[in-house]
Amino acid sequence: MHIKIKEGPGLRSLSLKESEEYYKKIKSVFHELNAKHFNSELPEPEFFINSRLRSALGRFKPPAFLSFRRKSLQTIEIAAYLFENENADVHLQQLLAHEMIHYWLWFTGRPYGHTAEFKKMMNTIGATRYNPIPKQSTRALVYQCPGCLAEVVRKRQITSHACANCCKKYSKGKYDKRFKLILKPSP
Ligand SMILES: [Zn+2]
Ligand SMILES: [Zn+2]
Repeated sequence: MHIKIKEGPGLRSLSLKESEEYYKKIKSVFHELNAKHFNSELPEPEFFINSRLRSALGRFKPPAFLSFRRKSLQTIEIAAYLFENENADVHLQQLLAHEMIHYWLWFTGRPYGHTAEFKKMMNTIGATRYNPIPKQSTRALVYQCPGCLAEVVRKRQITSHACANCCKKYSKGKYDKRFKLILKPSP
């Protein structure tokens, strides 16, 4: 498995050597945390170093259908700029712990966003909630579903909107305040 680097405009791309080194590091931290907090139950996901990821340091994505027959693996994306930070190792630990809680919730069939369970686990394993290296500010308001992490971008504030997908999936289509869209703190 190789790290695929998604190129972004104006960003230095990682050399093959660098990316292999980062990949090794990501993998070893993953397995270390998996053993320590998750009984090594989480299968290794696909990792991407994404140079376009600017508003977040990382994200977990469940498998997606690529076509009629093909499905991607679950992935954890990591912003390329993380590796430029002087405390990259610490941030990588924190980030992976955070993303792995999403992964674990998803893996065990539960809403996998920043739910009450998420926060409980976060306290248990000592992960941080927010992006520790703010990179880019944005004027648009970004709302996020605490159930599935889907993001909704709005120019104006919205109040009492819940995620339609999660209400459908977990609450038989009824409005469920657990999935009320939450304004993300601006990075
Ligand atoms: Zn998160
Ligand atoms: Zn949702």
